[in-house]
Amino acid sequence: MMNLTSRLTSKNIKAVLSTAAILFGATLAAPAFAHAQAPIAPVKFSDACSGVSHVTIGAVGDFLMHDPLQKKAARQKTFANQWRKFHRYTTAADIMYGNLETPTARGITRDQQQVADPGLVWDNEVYTSYQWFNVHPKLVEDIKATGFDVVSTANNHALDRGAIGVTKTVDELERVGLPFTGTRRSGETRDWHTVIEKNGFKTAWLACTFILNSDFLKKGDREGQVLNCNNKQVLNIIKTLAAENDAVIVTPHWGHENHDAPAAYQVKAAKMFLNAGAALILGAHPHTLQPMEKHVTPDGRETFVIYSLANFISFQPAMKNKATVMLFVGLSKDRNGQTFINGVRFIPAFMLNRTGSFMDVEVLPIEDGKPHGQEGLEHILKILPKENMMRYGDAVVTNPECRR
Ligand SMILES: [Zn+2]
Repeated sequence: MMNLTSRLTSKNIKAVLSTAAILFGATLAAPAFAHAQAPIAPVKFSDACSGVSHVTIGAVGDFLMHDPLQKKAARQKTFANQWRKFHRYTTAADIMYGNLETPTARGITRDQQQVADPGLVWDNEVYTSYQWFNVHPKLVEDIKATGFDVVSTANNHALDRGAIGVTKTVDELERVGLPFTGTRRSGETRDWHTVIEKNGFKTAWLACTFILNSDFLKKGDREGQVLNCNNKQVLNIIKTLAAENDAVIVTPHWGHENHDAPAAYQVKAAKMFLNAGAALILGAHPHTLQPMEKHVTPDGRETFVIYSLANFISFQPAMKNKATVMLFVGLSKDRNGQTFINGVRFIPAFMLNRTGSFMDVEVLPIEDGKPHGQEGLEHILKILPKENMMRYGDAVVTNPECRR
């Protein structure tokens, strides 16, 4: 008898199923292989083990601070509990990154007026939710205190409190000592990037956005405070940074919301950024995961892109908005001081929300995300390769094959 599953292709599965339905009755449940798909190829790098020094970069997607998250923080006097299960990992990464998808402009109202800071409250006037966000700056204190080393501020919500909101957000990031990239104060001409040095590695971080809720060209960014990814300067900045640093990490804000695959322009831009000298691209904005892949540049470098890291914490309801990952990328240096990627791993996670109480909002290890965790994992593994997955509780090792 022929081996049915091994001879199936996606093209003829449908035909086989309808034959099965005729043979066994139309109410027959579809067999498991109806949902089978080609396994996603693992992302591997040709040299995992020869490095003499190493640094591990951790990354999550959007801090998307809808009102239930702000209400819980007001009640608990902290935001940090909302990712408490992951503090062990945000502190384990040598350099931890996330996307700050909101201004944290102290005392700035919806009308962009300065008033006395009402404190860590949800007042829906100074501190607001979708679609014009502003969050109490305790958020950036908590991000810093839980081990984050750098955030992107270039995203579609950057100007949700106008020019003054960008300026005041920079004030808070500097007060707290949390490095950031992609925005600047009114009138500033500071560099768009920031450099983080760790374990002898100089990493340059550059954030930009293709999308801005208040239109870039018409009225939104009058003072040029947010780096537009379409700006021709971006490629020159990457080239310059590549010459001066061990690795350039670009964190573009791009793509279409709720799309599981990157748009053609994301793929094109990723290649341009990587070919210009970037080593890693950590994308965000679609609120759902998008694939990761290796790209070999014309000059022979093995580079990496994940098109979307999805939401890290949010109140968005769909499974694809709640299923997320914490990503780790390992960089090594060889004896000549050349930097290369030694491996990539991710931990699957799940955002608990919409349970009926805002006090429940929290990102959890996928195993704890019952009853939807398994569904979340299935979604994640439709997009990211299973072989690159590690489990919650595992030590962060991006090249486990070298420890055998
Ligand atoms: Zn966004």
